[in-house]
Amino acid sequence: MAGVVVGSSNARIGIQAAIDILRDGGNALDAAVAAIKLIEDSLEDNSVGTGGIPNLIGQVELDASIMHGKNLASGAVGAVKQYPNPIEIARKVMDVTPHVMLAGEGAELFAKHHGFKPAELLTDDAREMWRKRIEEGGPSQQRIEEDRYELFNQAVADWAKMLHKEIYGTTNVIVRDDSGDIVTAVSTSGWGFKWPGRLGDSPIIGAGNYADNRFGGAACTGRGEMAIRSATAHSVIMYMRHGKSLGDAVHEAMQDLSHLQDPYAERSNTMNIVAMDRNGNVTAASTSESATYVVQTTDMDAYEERTRTHVPLT
Ligand code: ASP
Repeated sequence: MAGVVVGSSNARIGIQAAIDILRDGGNALDAAVAAIKLIEDSLEDNSVGTGGIPNLIGQVELDASIMHGKNLASGAVGAVKQYPNPIEIARKVMDVTPHVMLAGEGAELFAKHHGFKPAELLTDDAREMWRKRIEEGGPSQQRIEEDRYELFNQAVADWAKMLHKEIYGTTNVIVRDDSGDIVTAVSTSGWGFKWPGRLGDSPIIGAGNYADNRFGGAACTGRGEMAIRSATAHSVIMYMRHGKSLGDAVHEAMQDLSHLQDPYAERSNTMNIVAMDRNGNVTAASTSESATYVVQTTDMDAYEERTRTHVPLT
């Protein structure tokens, strides 16, 4: 089977770079990182990397993870500020430490130590979105500055309710190279206007990301809290391991989410999964009717955008 890349719709920004690497005989790991890096650097997308929507106090905080299906090696970073390419830092965590996940200041120190260059991630557009949001009903900036932690007791639960329909977004790719290695990579600025330090599923292996060459790979976008509670990416792989087809495995993992009680889960695209089986067949599903994903093989001149299977949570 030719090399193949599948990912969330915004992965169109980086998919060709991954395909070019595969065509040149490169491996799935390099291809996945190259694709995600381009999306992180793109200002077209404000759910990932530079230009990402900031947290409650106006800081862009990034999460990313990567997993290698050959040996289940994994790396992740969470709540990283000032470093534009968390996917590269996640890969470094995987490559040179005995750990899987580093967060916050420790992750930033690690990035600095390994020569990653800090940068301003908050663009004027994202700052403006944040400013408007704060003015339209969030706690005032003065209140945030004076009384950051007290806010939790009073405002945040209501505020989270108000924000649960807000944009959030993420990017992910699953890459399979000629040798059959499958790598899954995810990057995000998380839930827009999130509580500082809030982590979603994207940096959590098993929740937003899982790869195992023997069975396939899966990655999620959507309400990370739900994917964490159901270990959604891992569930897809487990269902395949126990004999389900790719499509059935994804469907079953989506249906698991309907057992979760979640007062905030009213958005239509609560969950989206992209998945690949060990042979490089791909599929994707969403709780939204119109969500899409992208796919390209090394035989194809351009990516194809396809509609995800609609799986409403009943
Ligand atoms: N899953 C991401 C998170 O919860 C956000 C998203 O994919 O929309 O941080």
